[in-house]
Amino acid sequence: MEIRTKSVPGDVPGVFAGLDETLKLLKGTDTTVWSLPEGSLFAPYEPVMTLEGRYRDFSTLETPLLGFLCQASGIATKARVVKDAAGEKPVFHFGSRRMHPAISPMIGRSAFIGGCDGVAVSKTAETLGIEPVGTIPHALILLLEDSTTATGMFEEIFGDSVNTVALVDTFGDEKFEALENADLIEGLNAVRLDTPSSRRGDMLQIAKEVRWELDLHGFEDVGIFISGGLDEESIPPLNEVADAYGVGTSISNAPVVDYSLDIVEIDGEPMAKRGKLSGAKQLFVCDSCGERKIAPWVVKEMSCPRCQKRMGKRLVKMIDDGEVLVDDRDPKEIREYSLEQTLRIPGTEGT
Ligand SMILES: [Zn+2]
Repeated sequence: MEIRTKSVPGDVPGVFAGLDETLKLLKGTDTTVWSLPEGSLFAPYEPVMTLEGRYRDFSTLETPLLGFLCQASGIATKARVVKDAAGEKPVFHFGSRRMHPAISPMIGRSAFIGGCDGVAVSKTAETLGIEPVGTIPHALILLLEDSTTATGMFEEIFGDSVNTVALVDTFGDEKFEALENADLIEGLNAVRLDTPSSRRGDMLQIAKEVRWELDLHGFEDVGIFISGGLDEESIPPLNEVADAYGVGTSISNAPVVDYSLDIVEIDGEPMAKRGKLSGAKQLFVCDSCGERKIAPWVVKEMSCPRCQKRMGKRLVKMIDDGEVLVDDRDPKEIREYSLEQTLRIPGTEGT
């Protein structure tokens, strides 16, 4: 059986994720599994996973198997799109409160693998082996009745271990609260603009105004952190003034990658339903020029049609007859692997 998709949401290269749980699911099932390594970029119609075994041995796992891969890959893909939109600026994942807590670690892990620089949920950060990231909530300012009091107390208690970011839109105007905080809080790292949409008008102009005033008063080192309903379309115009982003719903609620799992071969004979290429397939990629080719499984070697260099096989044996052959990979390593790849899908802008 083969897993592949006919399209990736947004017509961008997909980021393959969810393999960690898939391997646990298929462990011990008399199944042999070849798969892309997690964090691999893929294009529509490319096989991302091939399973060999007796259908009845793993047919009951078909639904959870696709569920693991479709949602995790959808979130990782969206995180990459948002990360690319932000360029060099860090993107932190703040979206766990939009989703059921049971899947929060999966969402955060997928967002991180796709390219987010950090996550806000401490449990998720712990499983990723990173420090959680967050900023002061409006609640603290409301309870203390003043932005600078809240920032000052935070700085006093946590200032040695984490960066202090003042939230400057709770009671007053962003410009004046930013200046007040910068003035009173020594070592202030950034101000966060989370202006409610009902008051927003033009976020870029608000951020520019805050930047101007901070610079004019000698606070060039104080950065601007922007959050609130951001996605790949709203971020690029803000890049000229923002230093970091908190992105929530657009990543947590990313559209899934619509993978399908289909029989392509029975007892060594090519066999597939209408609309599907029969026979097991391998994905060859040229490490030199990036050329990609889907070939029948019997093809053992392939030279790049573009640069004549030898192409590498991308589907790697991960499970042999129920025995998992690969160790758990560090999510930081998967993220680096994912971010260092580029892939251009013909007819699209790609990444
Ligand atoms: Zn090549």
